[in-house]
Amino acid sequence: MSQKPSVPLDPHAMAVRQLKQAAAHMDIEPGLLERITHTEREVTVHFPVKMDDGSLRMFAGYRVQHNDVRGPYKGGLRYHPATELGEVRALAMWMTWKAAVVNIPYGGAKGGVTCDPKTLSPGERERLTRRFTYEIAPIIGPERDIPAPDVYTGPQEMAWIMDTYSMISGQATPGVVTGKPLELGGSLGRFEATGRGVVITAREAARHLGRDLEGMTVAIQGSGNVGGVAARYFELAGAKVVAISDSKSGVYNPKGIESAQALACKDQYACLLGHELASEEISNQELLELEVDLLAPCAMEGVLTPDNADRIKAKLVVEGANGPTTPEADAILEDKGVLVVPDILANAGGVTVSYFEWVQNLQNLLWSEDEIGQRLEDILCRSMKEVLAIAQEKKVSLRNAAMILGVGRVLAASRLRGVYP
Ligand code: GLU
Repeated sequence: MSQKPSVPLDPHAMAVRQLKQAAAHMDIEPGLLERITHTEREVTVHFPVKMDDGSLRMFAGYRVQHNDVRGPYKGGLRYHPATELGEVRALAMWMTWKAAVVNIPYGGAKGGVTCDPKTLSPGERERLTRRFTYEIAPIIGPERDIPAPDVYTGPQEMAWIMDTYSMISGQATPGVVTGKPLELGGSLGRFEATGRGVVITAREAARHLGRDLEGMTVAIQGSGNVGGVAARYFELAGAKVVAISDSKSGVYNPKGIESAQALACKDQYACLLGHELASEEISNQELLELEVDLLAPCAMEGVLTPDNADRIKAKLVVEGANGPTTPEADAILEDKGVLVVPDILANAGGVTVSYFEWVQNLQNLLWSEDEIGQRLEDILCRSMKEVLAIAQEKKVSLRNAAMILGVGRVLAASRLRGVYP
């Protein structure tokens, strides 16, 4: 978000470092380890979009497919000014481990377009989405690679992708993308899934520490698809959300903010700050360092770095964002006794309900909200238990434990499939 780390962030180097750290606790053939540090396919496209003023603008877009040994590639698409190939590469790798940690039959991919979505009109956004879909159409598909929402993309973008892909293929193909609007084969509970999963895994981690979310103070960085929803579920669980932010700044009130009001205010005025009960404006940097029980970074990668890790006061960090903690910061937090629930587990609720959506699409089924909520609970609680057991057995952090679980599953599948030809 706003703060700049003293060392420029290299997300792919960070992802590889995390992999090597976990690999040190595993027995992996060197060739196989080398194989999974690489992505399988990287597509960069440059495409024109007609802007509202009649001009033509070129955009760069990416789809990176890291690994599909366990099933079709799966992962979101983000629209962000800082999106570049290295970032998307790391995000694709994290998706592979994430799907494997929760044991759903997918590989990992990610994509994005370098753009500032806030400056695009709805028409420009639609034309950009449709043209980008056309550009990546040869490598996506319901059995091949299934995109989904990510930073600054949501159900409307997924609807345009579904329509464009269906037009190209000559048949309605809802299973090509997840996170669609309900009217187009989207699943109940998908929109809330990532934020809800953050709170489920936070609850299980708190339990592990002998605590309860009830009464815990929580700071949330981000108020979008993940942070905004997590705020609501934290409040439902009896926790007290004392701070929340957007890309510009945050609001803080030690007595607790009513996040629903702050978010409604953001919807109406594009700013969390119009909210009367919020007593203080704080920066995104200050939010991370607040005196709270639980910190949930739910925005961008690389926000917990060696520059601020020492000053984090929360005892529990739950990563709603992908890659918010650098490996150096991880080590500092571990030394301080901070329990970090890693992204590949904490935010896996999104891809888990994406999987439910895809299964429903492929079979023309409709599951109820209760069914989806229960299945999500079951999968996340089981995965959390498995990760905690590995952490205890091998005396490693939850990140290393989750990596050992996820990477182990990918390797097991790799060994069985062997190498073609
Ligand atoms: N973008 C989300 C993530 O990072 C969801 C991916 C999906 O549903 O495929 O996990």
